[in-house]
Amino acid sequence: MRAVCYTPFVIIDQVKLRQLVHVFLEENKKLNLSAFRTDEHCWIGNVLDSLSFLEALKSVEGLKMPATLLDIGTGGGFPLLPLAISLPETHCSGIDATRKKIDAVQRIVASLGLKNVGLFVDRFEDKARDKNFREKFDCVTARAVAPIAVLLEYAVPFLTVGGFCAFWKSSKVADELAASVNAQKILGVSFAGTYEYDLSSDFGKRLIVFFRKTKTTSSEYPRKVGIPKAKPL
Ligand code: SAM
Repeated sequence: MRAVCYTPFVIIDQVKLRQLVHVFLEENKKLNLSAFRTDEHCWIGNVLDSLSFLEALKSVEGLKMPATLLDIGTGGGFPLLPLAISLPETHCSGIDATRKKIDAVQRIVASLGLKNVGLFVDRFEDKARDKNFREKFDCVTARAVAPIAVLLEYAVPFLTVGGFCAFWKSSKVADELAASVNAQKILGVSFAGTYEYDLSSDFGKRLIVFFRKTKTTSSEYPRKVGIPKAKPL
């Protein structure tokens, strides 16, 4: 069977996901986008890791299938591309400050014929002040970008009130969560839960941490480029 559709909105198209691995690894030879250089490592460490989000949506209470999703710091396109393939009714955008990475993701998108992906080269701190982006996304995702307190300042201004953010983390997240309490309060989010999964012995246990936005973001945030990282809330 070519594709398995298990809800009206989720399609696990193994052929397209394998094609993504192939095209991504070709780009990775030129650009050093990811440490995962074999089919098997890229499949597990990038594709299956990204798709864990779909299981998390079913198990963390109160999360809804997003109509619009923004992946901040998408780099070579993870978790953006596996999610765009599997959620064809969701409009998926990716943003990164590095043009050569976004250009590579654009070539992958063209090669796979994906129609639900938008790509942007910019700093999060600047893009979040663009009225077409501020408070416009149902879901903001991030993997391997920054500690939670910093990620919240990057992500929350892009979210609609009621929207949620999803941060991929290793299982040792307690200190980061504790250090983000002030940022949660200032930015108006509530902790929505975590989803823990185990990819395999080589990759170990991982987590996706979810926060839901409960109020409009003050125009003070995000602060100027570089400040969220240098002086976390
Ligand atoms: N999410 C991808 C993954 O998991 O494979 C890439 C992660 S990579 C380690 C982090 C990315 O975040 C880099 O490509 C970097 O350019 C981007 N980034 C970090 N801070 C940023 C900022 N303030 N604005 C825009 N991009 C940023």
